[in-house]
Amino acid sequence: MPRITPARAPITSPAAATLFELVLTQGPLSRVEATRRTGLSSAAVTKAFRPFIEAGYLEELASGERTGPGAGRPASPLAICPDREFFVGVKITGDDLIGVMTDLRTEVRSSRHHALAGHGVEHVVAAVAELVAELLNSGDYRERSHCLGVALSGDVDRESGTVRYSPFLGWRDVPLADLLEDATGLTVTLENDVKALTMAEQWFGDGVGASTFAVVTVGAGIGSGLVVNGGLVSGAHGVAGEIGHVPVSQAGPLCHCGGTGCVEAIASTQAIVDAARTTTGNPDLTIEQAVETARAGDERIGEIFGRAGHAIGLGLAALVNLFGPQKVVVSGEGVASFDLLETRLRAAFAAQAFGSAAHCDILLRPLPFEEWARGAAAVAVQSLFTP
Ligand SMILES: [Zn+2]
Repeated sequence: MPRITPARAPITSPAAATLFELVLTQGPLSRVEATRRTGLSSAAVTKAFRPFIEAGYLEELASGERTGPGAGRPASPLAICPDREFFVGVKITGDDLIGVMTDLRTEVRSSRHHALAGHGVEHVVAAVAELVAELLNSGDYRERSHCLGVALSGDVDRESGTVRYSPFLGWRDVPLADLLEDATGLTVTLENDVKALTMAEQWFGDGVGASTFAVVTVGAGIGSGLVVNGGLVSGAHGVAGEIGHVPVSQAGPLCHCGGTGCVEAIASTQAIVDAARTTTGNPDLTIEQAVETARAGDERIGEIFGRAGHAIGLGLAALVNLFGPQKVVVSGEGVASFDLLETRLRAAFAAQAFGSAAHCDILLRPLPFEEWARGAAAVAVQSLFTP
């Protein structure tokens, strides 16, 4: 496919990027309010906003339309023009693809699910391209769409667009961004899925207004995204926040990462299923059956979930003790069985959280997979104004 030259938001300086992000996530906002929040001079604010208005990314609302903070002066607030550009976000799991078409504010306009028939690189690239084409054709989006964000679990190098290691796909060192650019013609940004979800939460979810917070996901894998002083921590080597591989039991079990007694080795969906199969002697037991059996009062299966909750609680305590977030959002498909995890999770957390770090709010949020795809779209939006 011919590559489409991406429209770039007119970012000319880090200050312009900061201002644009401010209006994007917290607007509409008056120039006075933007000046107050950023500490920039009002002349600098006016100068930075002008190219965005000229390029159609921002518009001045009539003062009567104002809805944001900064009331009092009849200055026209600035608002995002959500239809200026559209974005595709795709989350890849081991079983399926979830895609969304969003506007500039990452409001979802349409979404699609496709089952993934295999894990071969060529197959996945073709399947993503097909999904993207379907989304672009689901409305009047094609002309104004240039960017695709893709999120998947594992060790993902955003800078080079490479999947360094994906346990669920069995991939190592796959230049996925380049392959998808060739297949779709869009500019592609890759990100680890938990980091993408964290970005969406930071901009539009529970993280709004919190300068330091974390998202922890529990399910097939256990991961976390960390925001410290307003910035997503990406790690010097692209790895950070791997709460799933915090060791919490020297007694084991062994983890697929090569470590021993990692949180993930005890509390991932597969770890719970494996333990439940061993306990019951039923090699075909599913996670749904394990949940059902535990809820029906089976103490042996209940104990497996309890141990998982305990391991997650210790991991959360380690996270909170290390960087002191205001809140931790716990999400992922594993929260569907949170009732079985919660007592031991909170007890382990309370026992190990150090001093005031224990005041951190642990919030439970069963976010659907669309939200992860939306996170991928948010990463694509962010790529627009990374100076
Ligand atoms: Zn591990």
